[in-house]
Amino acid sequence: MRVELPAVIALGSNLGDREATLRAAVRAIHAIPGVVVTAASGIVESSALKPDGVDTSAPSYLNAVVAVRSAITPLELLDALTTIENTLGRVRGERWGDRTIDLDLITAAGPHVSTPRLTLPHPRAWERRFVLAPWLQIERTARIPGYGTVAELAEAAVDTVSDYPAPPLLDALRGEVRR
Ligand code: ADP
Ligand code: MG
Repeated sequence: MRVELPAVIALGSNLGDREATLRAAVRAIHAIPGVVVTAASGIVESSALKPDGVDTSAPSYLNAVVAVRSAITPLELLDALTTIENTLGRVRGERWGDRTIDLDLITAAGPHVSTPRLTLPHPRAWERRFVLAPWLQIERTARIPGYGTVAELAEAAVDTVSDYPAPPLLDALRGEVRR
């Protein structure tokens, strides 16, 4: 029997056709063997965050969060997300540099993981409103183990996001959603 466990993925794009890239990423995540997208947030817009802080000279980000059920391991899921990033034209340069797509694994069922390749829960999700606010839209009672509820963390986060009007991201799947 195949066991499917929940996981949460954050998407971000600040280069190229950002909205189209987010839609392509949602489709690609749903197409990973063993992974089903069960919910997708609306799109929000946020300023680019660099290691030195907010960079208003860099193009702004569109962000979203999707919930999935996954029959593959968190590490296999991360590998699949990296493949999607590469397919969608991501070029890795400076840390937190501009990118067509960033796919971060935020939480996955199972034990905490803490290695350079994969840390779960994602070590910075707790303080990023651009992750917490869209996540809250799809999971009102979610918590980040060890940090608190997404609702209270979103309230406390210092960065700002604004809603970005766009058709629902799940439309990208056009009837492919299996619940
Ligand atoms: P960032 O997302 O921090 O801007 P990158 O996308 O370039 O930076 O990822 C840097 C590294 O973070 C990757 O090599 C990846 O293996 C590692 N990593 C560790 N934990 C996670 C996680 N939960 N989700 C995504 N990447 C992670
Ligand atoms: Mg990343």
